[in-house]
Amino acid sequence: MAAALHLQTHPCFHGTYQLSPPPRPSVSFTSSSRSFPSNRRYLSAHVKAAASSSSTTTLQEGIAEFYDESSGIWEDIWGEHMHHGYYDPGSDVSGSDHRAAQIRMIEESLRFAGISKDPANSPKKIVDVGCGIGGSSRYLARKYGAKCQGITLSPVQAERANALANAQGLADQVCFEVADALNQPFPDDQFDLVWSMESGEHMPDKPKFVKELVRVAAPGGTIIVVTWCHRDLGPSEESLQPWEQKLLNRICDAYYLPEWCSTSDYVKLFQSLSLQDIKAGDWTENVAPFWPAVIGSALTWKGFTSLLRSGLKTIKGALVMPLMIEGFQKGVIKFAIIACRKPAE
Ligand code: SAH
Repeated sequence: MAAALHLQTHPCFHGTYQLSPPPRPSVSFTSSSRSFPSNRRYLSAHVKAAASSSSTTTLQEGIAEFYDESSGIWEDIWGEHMHHGYYDPGSDVSGSDHRAAQIRMIEESLRFAGISKDPANSPKKIVDVGCGIGGSSRYLARKYGAKCQGITLSPVQAERANALANAQGLADQVCFEVADALNQPFPDDQFDLVWSMESGEHMPDKPKFVKELVRVAAPGGTIIVVTWCHRDLGPSEESLQPWEQKLLNRICDAYYLPEWCSTSDYVKLFQSLSLQDIKAGDWTENVAPFWPAVIGSALTWKGFTSLLRSGLKTIKGALVMPLMIEGFQKGVIKFAIIACRKPAE
């Protein structure tokens, strides 16, 4: 396993050690056409080495390929944030600025977790677990003057995230690499903010995921997980109803998601590791306008033609978008935030 990974000086600004990918073709982006490298060989050397089982490997390859293929079209249409927007329930969203709602999602998450506005106490070292093309990292780095490291399974995303950081003059503050959230390439006790925005749903081993988030958090550091969950089970229930599971299975298949868990499962996992100030919120109502807006954008001429050019995985993802709306409306899917603090030493 270790032989497939090689340690060397990483272009990131930081670091006691890094996992560095083997050489691979460079990726060129233009606004009208994007070329994506084939990452199969790259993944087999890198991500496969981190995967503990062949089903995990297949899932991780699927996730990487899905985001390699779809991130360009998402960026063209929606910009650098690949997460839901946050809306006030009941507000009129016609003509709403959805990109502003995505920023509100970040701000509301920070507020929910009680992140200090006082510059003396604000986060200075942040990890963005499942970073996409780095929208959150750059936003947080700018807001707090912090250093931020992002990890993603998608080589295309990591490269694009670093290119955007360079272009925005943030190369000395933020840095992105391909790495597995379940085996993070960081020493223990590093980050005063551990940020996972809509990546937890991809994790096949939730206890391991939570354990890694806690491990890399600095003593006294805050962990914020914003993620898709299924509804909490009732006291007499052992599983979801078959129709509910069937709905989720169709979404899992299209978005490369393993089995889901509930918000209370996350809370229990953090409790089992003695985290403090654990808070959970249900923001399902706050994100309700998001998927209709995404479907609307896919149905514009630009959205539709980009989709047709993008590839099968992206098209398959677009086809299940209405199921997300159904899942939220029927109460099966919950949009959850969980925040907590690692005890200070
Ligand atoms: N947080 C970003 C992107 C969300 S999309 C944003 O808000 O813009 C989900 C992200 O999770 C993708 O970047 C995907 O590569 C990443 N991801 C999924 N499973 C992962 C894993 N095991 N390790 C690292 N990243 C993972």
